[in-house]
Amino acid sequence: MTQPITFDALQDRLRPSDRMPVMFLGHGNPLNAITDNPWADDWEAMGRALPRPRAILCISAHWMTRGETLVDVQKEPPTIHDFGPISPRLFEVQYPAPGDPETARAALALLADEACHGSQEWGLDHGAWSVLCRLYPEADVPVFQMSIDISKSFADQIETGRRLGALRDQGVLVLGSGNIVHNLPDMQFDGGVYDWAEEFDTLVAQALVDRDFDRLAGVDRDSALFRRAHPTPDHLMPALYCLGLVDNRDTLTLFNEGIDLGCTSMRSFLFS
Ligand code: ZN
Repeated sequence: MTQPITFDALQDRLRPSDRMPVMFLGHGNPLNAITDNPWADDWEAMGRALPRPRAILCISAHWMTRGETLVDVQKEPPTIHDFGPISPRLFEVQYPAPGDPETARAALALLADEACHGSQEWGLDHGAWSVLCRLYPEADVPVFQMSIDISKSFADQIETGRRLGALRDQGVLVLGSGNIVHNLPDMQFDGGVYDWAEEFDTLVAQALVDRDFDRLAGVDRDSALFRRAHPTPDHLMPALYCLGLVDNRDTLTLFNEGIDLGCTSMRSFLFS
């Protein structure tokens, strides 16, 4: 569907612009944070290719709220180890990037027409730090998270993203972190990939290429395909928020195409 990404060419294209891209990363297995593999290689290459952001607004699948959107306004967001007993080494990872209360409050102001509040009770969950520790290993770019309101329709999540669009012109990288296909119960470890995982991944990729975000907003969440691809829709939602920040000046770059564990799409996208 697309040519393999060349990070040098991407870096050359991005250099002249002060307007920050908007990016969605498939994060997959938390162990990707500390394992050398092609997914993490691309995160590291992307961190080198992107213009340096003034701050990062991270929308992770792992901070879910219902009926309101929360924005973390802490100066020093703690690293949250929000997973089961996978590996002791993962629990040792700290990502000590500073927060950015001022920019977080600017984001809240843009969402003034919504149920939206500042929060001091989150930090950086593994959806955020497992990719950020490869993108910006020095942890020297301020980061703040915004929750996903799982009670919202996909269309309303796109609309919330649209309201945040001005941040891109203020040096803020908006980073969604989830997975285009995400089905933990059906994970398999024999290298096989489910047909339905490929089918839904392709459906999303084609909608991105076609810039038909309404197709994604209107996807039938009760269909057998969707329920297989997303037994719960949380990991797709950060992508919807990101799409709201896209406009017709942006070029699409798809990368990390592939399905891990049989049913976890690592497909990632950048609009820049
Ligand atoms: Zn996850």
